[in-house]
Amino acid sequence: MSALVLDGRKVAQEIQEELRSRIQRLRSHSRPPALAVVLVGEDPASQIYVRKKIKTSGELGIESIDEIRDASITTDELLAIIHRFNQDPEIDGILVQTPLPKHVDTARILQAIDPGKDADGLHPLNVGRLVANRPAPRACTPAGIMEILRRYEIPVTGAKAVIVGRSDIVGKPMALMLLNESATVTICHSRTKNLAEECRRGDILIAAMGRPAALTADYLKPGCVIVDVGVNRITDSADVERLYGYDPKRISAFKKAGAVLVGDVDPFAMREISSAYTPVPGGVGPLTIAMLMANTVALAEQHVKSDSKC
Ligand code: NDP
Repeated sequence: MSALVLDGRKVAQEIQEELRSRIQRLRSHSRPPALAVVLVGEDPASQIYVRKKIKTSGELGIESIDEIRDASITTDELLAIIHRFNQDPEIDGILVQTPLPKHVDTARILQAIDPGKDADGLHPLNVGRLVANRPAPRACTPAGIMEILRRYEIPVTGAKAVIVGRSDIVGKPMALMLLNESATVTICHSRTKNLAEECRRGDILIAAMGRPAALTADYLKPGCVIVDVGVNRITDSADVERLYGYDPKRISAFKKAGAVLVGDVDPFAMREISSAYTPVPGGVGPLTIAMLMANTVALAEQHVKSDSKC
């Protein structure tokens, strides 16, 4: 039987459609939800993400305030921008696109965001709430993954979930969210011994390492569910041929664009061995943006509620 494709674009559309009536209510009772986006420098991937975020906000009727700054900005100047947004009663969510330039103190910047406006769910206070399984804005990528698993009715309770990657934005919050849903969780990283053996234990395998097609057939348990978070651009025609030789559409896309995207899992092995998987592109990426919108709307609702109590 062929594997089920977990369609991130479709689920993201559903999430966004469900937000429309809530946004409409906010617009008619007070004001549109507003998201401030801070983009520093010219990292092409960050620029693409931010453009998508701004476009989706616009389509949904969320106000987007964009602060685009040169890579030479100092930590203090960025802190001043964050403080201004923190003070502004018309702003519901603040997002600082990472990575920031090396000379900027990223931890200080993220910590300066008002936890009540933390659209990305990365403030230490909100991470603490996640640890305690209390309501708070959640990190968007893992929150989107929980949403797609839920909507495709993938059993999580009691499942063995293996996560490869322990970053603050994906791996760690992912582990906590799966644990909160009673999965048995293993977190792997670059120092893990026998990675293939660990991965083969996973009923659910979350690959978030940023290594093109690194998890090959040996790493996959037959019938597992794979969530491939990695987004890697490949430009070498021999690599493209090796990874996508079975897929004439990808080969012709490569010939046109000179590059294709691949996840962290070998695409052919994923399709042949898993029972369900998220494709790259069209899997996790759209969910991340949908959850950012969901966090912004939830924060706006809280702000309106607390304003009406004043
Ligand atoms: P990071 O670079 O912050 O973290 C990568 C993690 O993978 C680290 O914990 C690292 O281990 C681990 N790792 C790296 N190489 C290996 C290896 N050979 N074996 C085992 N573990 C390894 O990346 P992010 O979490 O930010 O992102 C991961 C991927 O997901 C990237 O491709 C990124 O582009 C993508 N991404 C996609 C998003 C989307 O919306 N689609 C959103 C966010 C990320 P260690 O800690 O020991 O160094």
